[in-house]
Amino acid sequence: MVLPGPDAARAKQAIVMTGHYDSIPSDVMDPKTDAPGAIDDASGVSMALSMAAALRNEEPAVSVYFVAVAGEEQGLIGSQHLARRLKSEGVEVLAMTSVDIAGNSEGQDGVRERLALGNENDGPAREWARYVQRVGELYSSGLKLRVMLRRDRISRGSDHMSFAHEGFAAVRLSEARENYRGQHQTPRTENGVRFGDELWRFDAPYAARMCKALVGAIAALAFAPAPPQEVTLGGANSPDAKLRWKLPDDPRIATAVLYRRPADRIAWERMVALGKVSEVVLPSVNTDDWFFAVSTQDAAGNESIPQAPLAVGR
Ligand SMILES: [Zn+2]
Repeated sequence: MVLPGPDAARAKQAIVMTGHYDSIPSDVMDPKTDAPGAIDDASGVSMALSMAAALRNEEPAVSVYFVAVAGEEQGLIGSQHLARRLKSEGVEVLAMTSVDIAGNSEGQDGVRERLALGNENDGPAREWARYVQRVGELYSSGLKLRVMLRRDRISRGSDHMSFAHEGFAAVRLSEARENYRGQHQTPRTENGVRFGDELWRFDAPYAARMCKALVGAIAALAFAPAPPQEVTLGGANSPDAKLRWKLPDDPRIATAVLYRRPADRIAWERMVALGKVSEVVLPSVNTDDWFFAVSTQDAAGNESIPQAPLAVGR
């Protein structure tokens, strides 16, 4: 489903969320054996449907795509096609999320935990991951999201990689504790242990909490103003940090927001609304000790993805 953005100035910008509807048994080349795929990845497809239903009557600033893609297990074929097509049509994907393996809350070791969010520290994908964590946790109370500083789990992949390959900010949203007896396994019982990705493994309340978090983050971004442009950081080798940026000509913008965190941390720790300004000087703030980013916010609090400086200025 595509929710078109009516704002002509941003007609070519989009947010994309996918789940994959294909699944596999133990042998990836076996087309005959049953492969229910309840968690991998009917969980993601069900979230795509639920999110599309929740937002169907909304009019966001940019277009939002909720897509069930094919052929993920065969080499990310569907998402590759989609990412290439959007790129060739001149669509700028602001943020993409692959929800893949997101409905099982019990690990193979029996430990229940919360969830993780995958991908590579201040590039666009990392900023989108931080955004999903910050905004998503507001929309889904009690849920803890973790930003993982890697492209995906080790030796693994998912549809976000097709979008990253085309230069878009893309992350994977996944459960925190996987059970490998359920993944890519032909349904069977061996020595009293059940294998197979079957529906009984699906934890619906858990999946619903993840769904709420992601749809909250996607909606906040879909209604947000255009982000600041050409953010530069100055003040190296001086006692003060100086940031400059350009505010786009977007009537939704109510304020610019400055984010910062100590250089050894992952999540943004301080934010301050600055008003409609395009520069700020932070006295006695050493640029080497902090990371910075700048976003735009509308009057209702909908916020663009914070933009890290891409250039060093004076
Ligand atoms: Zn999958």
